[in-house]
Amino acid sequence: MTQPSECVKMPPSSRPNVAFQVAPQAPSISNKKFNTSTDVLDFRANRRLPGGRGSGAASNGSGGPTDYQQLKRKADTAEAKARASISTKKTAAPKNRPHTAGPTKLRVGRPVKTVLCADLWPIIFQYSESSVLLHMKDVAPLFREILGKKSVWKESRVYNYGDQIPPPLHGLEEWQYADLRHGQGCMSCKKEKTRKTYWAFLRRWCKACLHSKIIGEMDAITMLQDSAGNDLSELLRCIPSATVDSWGNYVKAGEADLQFHRTVYLRSDVGAILAELHSVFGKNGEPWSKDQISEWFNEKENEGREHLKFSEQLENWEKGNRGAKQTSYRDKKDDREVFFTAQAATMTPPLLKPALELCKAYQRAIRIPKGPNMVAWGYLKPKLEQERAAAEEMVRKKTRQPLEEY
Ligand SMILES: [Zn+2]
Repeated sequence: MTQPSECVKMPPSSRPNVAFQVAPQAPSISNKKFNTSTDVLDFRANRRLPGGRGSGAASNGSGGPTDYQQLKRKADTAEAKARASISTKKTAAPKNRPHTAGPTKLRVGRPVKTVLCADLWPIIFQYSESSVLLHMKDVAPLFREILGKKSVWKESRVYNYGDQIPPPLHGLEEWQYADLRHGQGCMSCKKEKTRKTYWAFLRRWCKACLHSKIIGEMDAITMLQDSAGNDLSELLRCIPSATVDSWGNYVKAGEADLQFHRTVYLRSDVGAILAELHSVFGKNGEPWSKDQISEWFNEKENEGREHLKFSEQLENWEKGNRGAKQTSYRDKKDDREVFFTAQAATMTPPLLKPALELCKAYQRAIRIPKGPNMVAWGYLKPKLEQERAAAEEMVRKKTRQPLEEY
């Protein structure tokens, strides 16, 4: 017997975004994984709709009564039950009325409890920010299962960033890529507040962990001088490098190109490339000629170039992002200044700009990077009323003129 599909029924006008525009009556899906349970949006309860009831007429099966009296009695009982149920429904009408009041109302602070088909979640996730997916994967086993699919992460990346960022480097999973962009916490010592990703090394570390893992160029070259007298320092061109300043702060991916900057490598990368060389060509003590290893070396060098290009693109993207955020904050502060100045001019008597600028409450208010509104003005106004006398007095003393002449 097939279970009825448990779907949210939303009128067309209420569909908030494209994620809900799939057929609400989801067909049975071949992937049983997504069909096993139905979650609710608030994740705190696995409520199920009362299903399975109303499978149709009474099924008496075999061996029905043959006696007429019995049949009549049964018919009478059924009729009485039906009557009783009708009358019950009438009295309890408000309780049992189906929910047809309109679209689901979404409000901040009130968890949505509308039941959704499990197979809608992958579609919703495709339109969600990667940072949201990182959070959602730890919310419920179903979400973890859905987000085990690479395609969901990829769709999310393409939808949210388009070609602003490149696809992940070979060997880097989509979810790892998202974690490097939006995750938090040192990947080595697990320090929670670490947010800095060193794109040169594709890791997010705290500064102490970074310093414990990097080595300078001279140390790397020393590591690459083996006992047989081979100078393998050219291998450094095949592994990721980064630039740090004279205080040891990470500057960028790639080799240093300024006087007081220096190039660093990961000690583990130097060890790994050496081990790979030995595993490919043997560690027999014979000197390697360039010709012998040229094909392998060229391939590795190309990988290193691609890695560097990817790291630089991500660093540029991060810089752009940071700049855009700062511009947006500055714009909001400017808006607050204009708005509060205009509102202060409507006070009785008007509080003019020279005095307004001396009020501490105003100075604090315009440092907040949020758009202005009347609620914010409602908080600010009583504080200005308290401070205005002193501020206006200061302006008067400074200019030795009556305030009205401004
Ligand atoms: Zn750390």
